[in-house]
Amino acid sequence: MSRVVVLGSGPAGLTAALYLSRANLAPVVYEGFQPGGQLTTTTDVDNFPGFPEGIMGPELMERMKGQCERFGAKFEMDEIVTADLSSRPFKMTTSLGAEIEADALVIATGATARYLGLENELRLRGHGVSACATCDGFFFQGQDVAVVGGGDSAMEEATFLTKFARKVYLIHRRDSFRASKIMQDRALNNERIEVLWNTTVADVKGADAVEGLVLQDTVTGETSELDVTGLFLAIGHIPNTAPFKGQLDLDGEGYISLKVPGTSLTNIEGVFSAGDVHDTNYRQAITAAGSGCKAAMDAERFLEGHE
Ligand code: NAP
Repeated sequence: MSRVVVLGSGPAGLTAALYLSRANLAPVVYEGFQPGGQLTTTTDVDNFPGFPEGIMGPELMERMKGQCERFGAKFEMDEIVTADLSSRPFKMTTSLGAEIEADALVIATGATARYLGLENELRLRGHGVSACATCDGFFFQGQDVAVVGGGDSAMEEATFLTKFARKVYLIHRRDSFRASKIMQDRALNNERIEVLWNTTVADVKGADAVEGLVLQDTVTGETSELDVTGLFLAIGHIPNTAPFKGQLDLDGEGYISLKVPGTSLTNIEGVFSAGDVHDTNYRQAITAAGSGCKAAMDAERFLEGHE
């Protein structure tokens, strides 16, 4: 049995593992089947402090992992499928059939950005297709880009992208936005944003990078082409909390509801939350890392009190 298990290997999970290993707690990290998390689907990361020349997403995650291993963290390429959090030690089973127990648990399983599911869209992720304007917008200076979605994220991302892009097409499948009025107005009043209502993306063109989109009108069914070099998806995220439903307090969309906002505490003593699995607001590598640090410190204090 491990004293503490970390679920997830993005910046939140790895920072938690780093702090826990430096506290001599020998954490075991279940890193999932996409080790490194969402950052491994981006290319250059220019907004993580300490890398003035920038760093590639996968390399940043490799370095974080190496730093954890240096202090004794162990890694398993496996993920939790069931969890019994009703009593301690917590009991879990994994995808590969292992049965594990832990006195304390840090959940840093993240949220998966929703993509449209088009073959070429997924192939060109990190090469013009992105689900994070804050991370990748800078690379589209003077270019024409498209944002898909009609919620607050789409408004925010489209507005943010006008700092760099020459033109931002906001593609929405219906004839009205669900975004809050204030965010809509901001986007609609921005002269660099053009809204394409009743429109979906049917295909993404380009061999090694995005060169254009095939659009479809949802009313007439007609198709057309749009010349853009960037495609930003803002159609929501799916929090990875399935094994904890019915045990942990989750909000309406499945994100973990913290017991005390600003900490990592959940409704179950000994279970701590870190990163995007509860954070619907900031969703940055650096905020996730900070959140992982808090979870590790909370877990360490909890374990000290339950020797
Ligand atoms: P959201 O509100 O769920 O909106 C998702 C949008 O994507 C909807 O307009 C939806 O269209 C569209 N969509 C979903 N699946 C699609 C598909 N397969 N093809 C095309 N379009 C699709 O998600 P969100 O904008 O990420 O916001 C999530 C939460 O965070 C919300 O509560 C939001 O208010 C909050 N948030 C707040 C701020 C802020 O206040 N600064 C910023 C960002 C997010 P339909 O409308 O047709 O369903």
